[in-house]
Amino acid sequence: MTAVHQSAADEQRREGGEPGRGHGRSALLAQPPRVVAYVLLVVVAYLTVLVWQFAVTVFRPWDALTCVALALCCAVCIEASRRLGMPAGVARDLLSAWWLPAALLLPPIYALLMPVPMQALLQYRVRRALPHRRVLVTAALGLSGAAASGVFHRYVPEPLEAGPGWIVDQQGAILVAVGCAVLFAVLNLLIVAVAARASTPQGRWRDVLWNRENVELDMVELCLGVLITITCVISPALLLLALPPVVLLQRSLMHQQLQAAARTDAKTGLLNANAWQREAETELSRAERSTEPLAVLLIDIDYFKRVNDTYGHLTGDQVLVAVATTLCHQLRDYDVIGRFGGEEFAVLLPGADTVEACRVAERLRARVRRLAVPAEDTTVSVTISVGVSLYRTHGQDLIELLASADLALYRAKESGRDRVCLPAIRKST
Ligand code: GH3
Ligand code: MG
Ligand code: MG
Repeated sequence: MTAVHQSAADEQRREGGEPGRGHGRSALLAQPPRVVAYVLLVVVAYLTVLVWQFAVTVFRPWDALTCVALALCCAVCIEASRRLGMPAGVARDLLSAWWLPAALLLPPIYALLMPVPMQALLQYRVRRALPHRRVLVTAALGLSGAAASGVFHRYVPEPLEAGPGWIVDQQGAILVAVGCAVLFAVLNLLIVAVAARASTPQGRWRDVLWNRENVELDMVELCLGVLITITCVISPALLLLALPPVVLLQRSLMHQQLQAAARTDAKTGLLNANAWQREAETELSRAERSTEPLAVLLIDIDYFKRVNDTYGHLTGDQVLVAVATTLCHQLRDYDVIGRFGGEEFAVLLPGADTVEACRVAERLRARVRRLAVPAEDTTVSVTISVGVSLYRTHGQDLIELLASADLALYRAKESGRDRVCLPAIRKST
């Protein structure tokens, strides 16, 4: 299993993948009722807070100008990332560095409003996500920003009007700003994570909530946000100085993610076929130098076309992701798993002999069989067929091993599916 899987799962959690087909209905209504109810609940909460804040806010031109300045900086960052290209799998950006100053320095209404044009820009200029997911992300950013804003203004009631004095005079003001930044990040993560978990209940909370790389990035984003807040208090004109380094940082972050995305299958988060083959070749040459055994599994979902035909491609995709996640969780860190084709997966098991390979394959088969993916008012279950081939017994290189595993997979399909098979004819070594 590789860490790549984590990043795409996380991508789904934060941004929400590509638009899919909702079996002739809207993608939101194709979701399980609890997901629909949750998204509506968050949106209603957002609108309620928005109306309430409209009623209580005293609008001042300087606040509005500062908000426009921050939004423009944010838009420049979005346009810069657009020019780099942002395929699915590239989901992290540093945009919170711009919403955070708006939340801390301006009344909560600005934190509620600012994500709307910015998410619209992302949706129409950078990448189309499923509309309900984009709406959820917007509401989550707005609500968490408003909460951070409300808390911070209790401590520093007029952070912009008062000028930069409070930064040095008021002991602990920066600490409170950092605390509010953490509150903003945690709330935002929780709101989106509950939706991600509701739509894929077979996933683990830990995967939805915790990813070391993302926590590190969150921290960088928060530090940047607090620094931009201080800059903005001194003078919003200084944002012009902050913008180039942030754009540069964002570009290097994108570049890193683009490299990872080139190895990853965007839908499942597993390695793509090319990356799997490269990693498999490396493992194979390691096994060649030792006497260690090694096995290859080819896995194909049974009658997957029927799932698409019955429940639609969107549910088909959810089943595909659920199977990929289940397979991944059953493997060791150094096993190499990739998505090989449409609903076909390849696994390389270093150190596995025939008994071990068949034991792992049987465990994968049994676990997938137990899956129940929610769809409309029912659940979808699938089975898998697995072809197993052993290094030295069934093949001397990757091509031969894959060909043997494919033969074994064909046997598994022919003999009724939902089973594990070895190739019929064993080559002598
Ligand atoms: P078998 O048991 O013989 O494997 O039957 P099957 O229906 O699974 O096999 P077949 O190869 O005929 O069909 C595979 C289907 O997988 C066809 C294609 O529409 C679907 N598929 C491939 N990639 C994706 C994908 O990314 N998402 C969805 N939803 N479906 C996919
Ligand atoms: Mg199939
Ligand atoms: Mg197939």
